[in-house]
Amino acid sequence: MKQHPLIHKFKTVANHYVYDVNTNNIVRTNEILHDVIDGYGTIPFSAIASKWAKKYDAKSIEQCLTHIQESCKSQGVFSSNRPTVMKYPMCEHHFYESLQGGLSDLTLNATERCNLRCKYCTYSGAYYYERHHSTEDMSWETAKKAIDYFYSHTQSSEKVYMSFFGGEPLLNFDLVKRSVEYARGFANWPPIVFHLDTNGTTLSDEISGFLIENDVILQVSIDGPFEIHDRYRVFGNGGGTFHLVHKNLERIRKMDRDYYESRVSFAATLAPPCELLETYRFFSSDDLVAKNNLNINFVDTYDTDFFRMLHDRVRRSRLSEHLGALRKEYLEVTVGSNSGPAHQFLKGLFERPLVRIHRRALNPMGAHCPPNGICVPGVRRLFVDVAGRFYPCEKVGQAFCIGHVDTGIEHPKVRSLLEQYIHGSTQDCTSCWAVRLCSLCLAQARRSRDLDFGRKKDNCSVERANLHDSLVLYAEIMERNPKAFDFVEDMVFE
Ligand code: SF4
Ligand code: SF4
Repeated sequence: MKQHPLIHKFKTVANHYVYDVNTNNIVRTNEILHDVIDGYGTIPFSAIASKWAKKYDAKSIEQCLTHIQESCKSQGVFSSNRPTVMKYPMCEHHFYESLQGGLSDLTLNATERCNLRCKYCTYSGAYYYERHHSTEDMSWETAKKAIDYFYSHTQSSEKVYMSFFGGEPLLNFDLVKRSVEYARGFANWPPIVFHLDTNGTTLSDEISGFLIENDVILQVSIDGPFEIHDRYRVFGNGGGTFHLVHKNLERIRKMDRDYYESRVSFAATLAPPCELLETYRFFSSDDLVAKNNLNINFVDTYDTDFFRMLHDRVRRSRLSEHLGALRKEYLEVTVGSNSGPAHQFLKGLFERPLVRIHRRALNPMGAHCPPNGICVPGVRRLFVDVAGRFYPCEKVGQAFCIGHVDTGIEHPKVRSLLEQYIHGSTQDCTSCWAVRLCSLCLAQARRSRDLDFGRKKDNCSVERANLHDSLVLYAEIMERNPKAFDFVEDMVFE
C-alpha cells in the first residue's frame, strides 16, 4: 500500500519544519518542501507538479521531490515506514523479574474521608462515573501488609518512595504515623522518601512536627489567591479554606524554615474560568509560595456538566489570550537563560513536553513502538486502596485492579491489562505521527473502571494539538538560543 511519509509539519514565524518520526529528528525545510511533501509516496511526481504548478515552476518541484527521495534513501528521513507492532521494550523474563523486585513507589490511600467538599473534586458527585465521598479508612492491618509486600518487592530499586493519598490522608493521621515508623524500622532498605498530599487544613502543631521530624515531602493543594482558591476549595458549609491553609503554612515555616523551603510544594488545579494571569501573579509574588515547587493541573472537564456555564466561548478566548501572554514570557526567559525559566508556574504550563522533545532518542524507529507513556502496571508503582486492593497508580483511582495485599500482584491481570491496551491502541498509534513523543497512558484511556478507547481517542486529539504547539515553541526557542535546553542534561528523572 502506498503511504505518505510519517511526519508532522509545523512552522515558526521564520522557518518551516518537519518532525520526522522515523529518525525522531526535527528537520528545518523550506516552503516548497512543506507544500509538495503531502503527496509524496502516494501520487506520481507529475500529479504533484501539476497540483503546485501555479505556485512553483516544474524544475523546482522536481528538484525538491528528488531531494526528498534521496534524503529518504541516504538518511532514512521522510520515510513512510510505520511500526507494525506495539510492545513494551522488555522481554518476558525481564517482565516477570521486574514484577518480583522492581517496585519503588507505594501509595497508600489512607482514607476516603475528606473534611472538604471541593466543588471540582473527582468525588464530589459532579462526575458521572466516579465514586462519591465515603467514610472508609484504611486499617493498620491492611497498611502493614501493603508495606510488607512493598518491602519484599524492592530489591532492585535504589531509592523507594512511600506516599499517602486521600480523601484527606491526615484525617487518618494515626495510620500515616504508624506506617512511617514501621517502614523506618526495616533494615537493609534503600533510602526511603515519604510523601503526602494534603488539602492543608488539618496541619496542627502535632502533625506538622511529625512531618518535619520525618522529613516528609508535603504537597499542599492551593489554587491561587483567595478569590480563586475559595471558588472551589470549600468546606461542607461552603466556607472557603484559603485563609486557614495560609495560616497553617505560615506556622510550618515558622517551625522550620529549611524544611518549609525544601520539602513543601504546592499543587494548583486550574479550573474554569482559569484566570491564569492572576494565578501566576499570586504564585510568583506571594512570599509564602513563590519559591516552592509547584505542580499544575487543569481540571478534568470530561464526563461532567459542572463546568459548562464557566467554559463558554468568551472565557475560552480569554484563556488562550492569557496562555499566549505566559507562553511569550516563558519563551523570553528560556531564550535568555541556560538554567531554565524563572518560575515554576511557567515551567508547569509549558516545560514538560519540551523536555520530552529535547530528550528524544535520535535513533531509527524500527518495527516496534512502545505503548505510549504507560508504565508496566505493578512494576514500579503500586496504589493500594482502603480495602487493600492493588492498582497501577493513583491517577487511575480504583480502575484496573491488579491484585490485593493478601494475594500480591496477579501477573495474568497485569498481562491482560497491557494486552487490552495494546490491542485497542495499535491501529491508531502505529500510523500516528506522535507515536514517539506521546505521553498518554491508562489514565487517559479510562472511563469509570474500564478501558475506553473512545475516551482515549478524544485525548489523542488533545495530545497531538499540545505536541504540535510544543514543537513550535521548542523550535522558536532553539532558533534563538540553541543552548537553551542544556539544563535538561542536569535534570534528575525519577
Ligand atoms: S481536598 Fe481533595 S479529596 Fe477533599 S474534597 Fe477537595 S479535592 Fe476532594
Ligand atoms: S496521540 Fe493517540 S494515536 Fe497518537 S501515539 Fe498517542 S495514543 Fe497513539
